Amino acid sequence: MPIDGWLEALPGQDAGAMNRHVADDVALFAGRDHPLLSTRTVRHQVARLSAHLLVLGATTEAPHPMDDGLRRALLGYSLYTRQLDMVQDRATKHICRDGCERPPLGCCNRSHNVVFSLSDIMMQHPTGLALRMGDALARLQAEEGAHHAHGAPMGERGCPYLTATGCTLYLFKSPLCVHYLCPTVADALDAAHGPEAAPFVAGMRRAANRQLERSSDFMEPGLIEAAVRMFAPEGRSRAESGDGPDDGVGNRVRGGMEGWPDGGGCGNARG
Ligand code: SF4
Ligand code: SF4
Repeated sequence: MPIDGWLEALPGQDAGAMNRHVADDVALFAGRDHPLLSTRTVRHQVARLSAHLLVLGATTEAPHPMDDGLRRALLGYSLYTRQLDMVQDRATKHICRDGCERPPLGCCNRSHNVVFSLSDIMMQHPTGLALRMGDALARLQAEEGAHHAHGAPMGERGCPYLTATGCTLYLFKSPLCVHYLCPTVADALDAAHGPEAAPFVAGMRRAANRQLERSSDFMEPGLIEAAVRMFAPEGRSRAESGDGPDDGVGNRVRGGMEGWPDGGGCGNARG
């Protein structure tokens, strides 16, 4: 369970000793809709990351915790990318592994992990929050990549977070990385799912091509729901009806999660 392993290893306050900021973050995100994640997973991820981000935001020069706006933008992004990683585990990673026309690097070139290049900043004029989010993502990528590499060399070819066994990022890939779909993958999704693939493919392409100006541009609204519908046999998932089972510890698991790895509230696909 790589994601939960990294969350547990993060420096920061113990979730059992939550401070007010962490408790507020947990309450906020537990009340939001995350179609593929159980409440328990959301609470755990937010508690661990929030405590870490508070520490990450404090430097010797500025010994203040990371502000609510940036911290919550990063927390929201991490929950979104976790769900998108689950979708890609089910929908696309086998294509990248077995059917890529550009081996061994695929699309993992040297700059895809970068959120804002200097020319992006000059041309796109991102907001202050978007810029700070890009800066924080770069720091989190370094932490997450080092953890998941387990000492293996990274960046010997292409992207600095690529090892011989693949990408070392799960929660803090760049928006370009999490949304990129090459024509091979788009065609394979169309062949496998027919018209139900179209909204997901269109959403991924829209997000990958979007210029990042505001923090909300990092995510594509409705994309996870489109993925759930793509896999639902009748084109309408039970996620929309909210009639899922209990996860055994009192948290309601959302309907339509059968077949998804967090359907029992037990964590990410690779766990
Ligand atoms: S998205 Fe396409 S180019 Fe990139 S690794 Fe997958 S199959 Fe290869
Ligand atoms: S961060 Fe991961 S997905 Fe993105 S280019 Fe690097 S290795 Fe590929």
